Amino acid sequence: MKNPQIAPIPAASLNPSLPSYLAADHLGPWGIYLQQVDRVTPYLGSMSRWVETLKRPKRTMIVDVPIQLDDGTHAHFEGYRVQHNTTRGPGKGGVRFHPEVTLSEVMALAAWMSIKNAAVNVPFGGAKGGVRVDPKVLSQAELQRVTRRYTSEIGVIIGPSKDIPAPDVNTNERIMAWMMDTYSQNIGATATGVVTGKPVDIGGSLGRREATGRGVFTVGMEAASRMGLEVKGAAVAVQGFGNVGAVAAHLFEGAGARVVAVQDAHGTVYKESGLDVQRLKAHHDKSGSVAGYDQAETLTQDAFWDVPCDIMIPAALEQQITTSNAPRIQAKMIIEGANGPTTPLADDILNDRGILVLPDVIANAGGVTVSYFEWVQDFSSFFWSEDEINQRLVQILKKALDAIWTTAEEHKVSLRTATFIIACQRILHAHDLRGLYP
Ligand code: NAD
Repeated sequence: MKNPQIAPIPAASLNPSLPSYLAADHLGPWGIYLQQVDRVTPYLGSMSRWVETLKRPKRTMIVDVPIQLDDGTHAHFEGYRVQHNTTRGPGKGGVRFHPEVTLSEVMALAAWMSIKNAAVNVPFGGAKGGVRVDPKVLSQAELQRVTRRYTSEIGVIIGPSKDIPAPDVNTNERIMAWMMDTYSQNIGATATGVVTGKPVDIGGSLGRREATGRGVFTVGMEAASRMGLEVKGAAVAVQGFGNVGAVAAHLFEGAGARVVAVQDAHGTVYKESGLDVQRLKAHHDKSGSVAGYDQAETLTQDAFWDVPCDIMIPAALEQQITTSNAPRIQAKMIIEGANGPTTPLADDILNDRGILVLPDVIANAGGVTVSYFEWVQDFSSFFWSEDEINQRLVQILKKALDAIWTTAEEHKVSLRTATFIIACQRILHAHDLRGLYP
């Protein structure tokens, strides 16, 4: 494999009040997050005096990840771990392996984790990690070396009571097992609680793999019933057929919905009467993509946004719904399985068009909620049944959505702004109680 090119960091804007690396890339995910914080500041009352703390990550780490490739040569990858806020508890958030991941993207993802964890009221702060690598061009041995070296490099700031990584795009149970082992070898004791999303046999939780997709489904069903949308027979379009998208598609199909369109990085398939999700998954698992599935029509990637549907689930990457496709989306409800899939301007268009957006910070919070259960189970070394986990998950998500819905109605704001209001108030109230050190 080739060493990936490192893209230049965009020029910093001239904002004198922020360090240049924080003000840079103002149109990217971090800029979007800053705009979201600005939007809620007027609703934070006396807590707004601490709002500046949300605009800066607490701790940002950039590491070099050198490995030996199978052919004996060496490659260097850039890795990041960002702890955005740890006021309410240890940092918590996934690790992404992607050739285009950047520090500012990881900063935004870490910040959204702070918001998400506070929104569902689990005792975690927000963190996120990434390695700028395309895992698909690595052998398993090379992937293991990248994972272990990255874990070792960030080892000084992670730990069961400091910061707990988890899977994200292109990382999985296998990688979590290597991370847990590396950290444990380095400290000389088995520390199952250092990561979540591990295999069940080494301290993982039942239900964790499906938790994010199940959360998307749970929040979607609850919102559908509140807005009077009949899910049975409803048309659902899903972007991303990985851990989140495939599970959500499967559960909506189980509730009687027609999954009419599925898109992944390599193709888009469409069938008006509804795709057979299990068959599509079998094809995907064999070939690596939904592309080439012969029981459906093939669409261009852009045509996905015009598909007639009632519910759309972006569950791939950020910044997918933009000003160019938001006016074309036909759905009545969008459930953000992915993190940051909608740009703020697109959000306004959807809002003006009366399309309900269930924001990422609540819609995909199922994963971190069950990660919290996994962490608790690891600490107590006592494991719960899958039924118990799913019941507690649904309970937490419904309670969180209820509070968000009430806040949205009270202030006449979007569900996203309402989620941010609740979360920012919780974080800043905790900050207020703890006080500023020294
Ligand atoms: P994954 O790697 O399992 O799947 C990603 C899917 O997106 C794949 O099907 C891929 O082909 C598709 N995709 C990638 N680029 C695309 C593009 N340009 N156009 C269309 N499709 C594309 O990842 P995942 O774990 O399912 O995560 C998906 C999203 O959900 C990410 O934004 C992630 O941060 C978020 N998320 C994941 C979890 C979790 O528990 N896995 C939790 C919360 C949020």
